[in-house]
Amino acid sequence: MKYKKRDINGRTVSEHRFLMEQHLGRSLHPDEQVHHINGNKLDNRIENLVVVAARDHGLYHHPPTLPVEKNCVVCGRLFRPHKTKRRRQQTCDWKCRNVLIAQRKRRLGEDQLADIFLRRKSGEPLSSLAREFGVSKTYVSWLYRHGPSRNKRMSDRLLAKA
Ligand SMILES: [Zn+2]
Ligand SMILES: [Zn+2]
Repeated sequence: MKYKKRDINGRTVSEHRFLMEQHLGRSLHPDEQVHHINGNKLDNRIENLVVVAARDHGLYHHPPTLPVEKNCVVCGRLFRPHKTKRRRQQTCDWKCRNVLIAQRKRRLGEDQLADIFLRRKSGEPLSSLAREFGVSKTYVSWLYRHGPSRNKRMSDRLLAKA
């Protein structure tokens, strides 16, 4: 669908951009675009127009939808994540979840686990630890909550050593 055009002093401009500039009393910045709230590109009433950042404009037209079904990262089975966990849930059930956690733990040595734990404890941000050790922030916070080893005695030993 085409936008309405207007002739301003011999220049052809998009009417919705022109009207927004009039409304704001300034020119639009290069990274500002004007979106039609109701989706009708011919409806240039000012209440139907909103300035959006160019990089976000696509989101107004194609809002990301969270998947209703996913493939379990462990067993590959198609599953339906809990409706509040559509973004985060990676595994189909608790068995696969435990396998995933064990896989992540195995990738890191016990000294590294203790290291992450202690540095998190001393206030290092989740994001930098996650980046350095190549794991997710979720994993770092999980590790911190649960201790560096499932085995309490092992945990104490690791922490004493570190
Ligand atoms: Zn738009
Ligand atoms: Zn599974």
